[in-house]
Amino acid sequence: MRLSILWLVVVCLCGAQGVFGQEITSGKPDGSMINVLIVDGQNNHNWRETTPVLKRNLEETGLFYVEVATSPDKGQDMSAFRPAFSEYDVVVMNYNGDSWSEGTKADFEAYVANGGGLVIYHAANNAFPEWKEYNLMCGVGGWGNRDERSGPYLYWQDGRPVLDNSPGRGGSHGPQHEFVISVCDTVHPILKDFPPRFMHKSDELYDRLRGPAQNVNILAVAYSDTAKGGTGRFEPQLMTISYKSGRVFHIAYGHAGKQCRSVAFIVPFLRGTQWAATGVVTIPIPEDIPTEEKAYARP
Ligand code: ZN
Repeated sequence: MRLSILWLVVVCLCGAQGVFGQEITSGKPDGSMINVLIVDGQNNHNWRETTPVLKRNLEETGLFYVEVATSPDKGQDMSAFRPAFSEYDVVVMNYNGDSWSEGTKADFEAYVANGGGLVIYHAANNAFPEWKEYNLMCGVGGWGNRDERSGPYLYWQDGRPVLDNSPGRGGSHGPQHEFVISVCDTVHPILKDFPPRFMHKSDELYDRLRGPAQNVNILAVAYSDTAKGGTGRFEPQLMTISYKSGRVFHIAYGHAGKQCRSVAFIVPFLRGTQWAATGVVTIPIPEDIPTEEKAYARP
């Protein structure tokens, strides 16, 4: 008991000094860099593997200064987990686990509402099925008992988005396979000047995503083949969502570390993170951007 009180005091003091943010950002090497906070610590995916790959992808550009906030393990006391979101330009969510404290949720909502950048990465769209504002930020999500009560299905048909209120589960995928990503929005800076279709390495193709689906702009889709356990629809894979004054970029794929080194992941992820942070994209499209025929991965 005595130890836990002491720990609480230590945590509170550290929190007051901004242990998750202020001290870190003040130590950044270059004031012009984009400050990124990756949030992890609980996930039904291997976050210990993917966070370092996400971090490396960002750091290789020289544009991003990256810190990581790791939550307590599943089932542990979450009350002291309170990252200083507002100290960052963009938060990358690699978290799918226990609920946060009301204070942490309020901080997060205020951060995005006030213009903070947010990246929803893969299973982060499975997280917090009961948290209304988080689901508005994601646009759509899956699993976590999501169904018609969560909002409509969102997919792409005949060149436009479709909201479908049919009952049924939210979130599914067949076995991993290579798939082509097709650009829907050629004007948005994230995918501007991309090849219209580009191949991704073998990965999960999320389908049947559903949610509030408000203020969502579908940037790119992939065909979810029924022969691969899919829906027979074009399913959203890259999206932007407007949440109050905040910019959200949502990338639905990237199951594990190797998928996160697929160039079809890296380039949208980098450009989407920069856009969420700043509203503009300066990261060029690299020469190894994949074609429709062949996926590429970096070592
Ligand atoms: Zn996955």
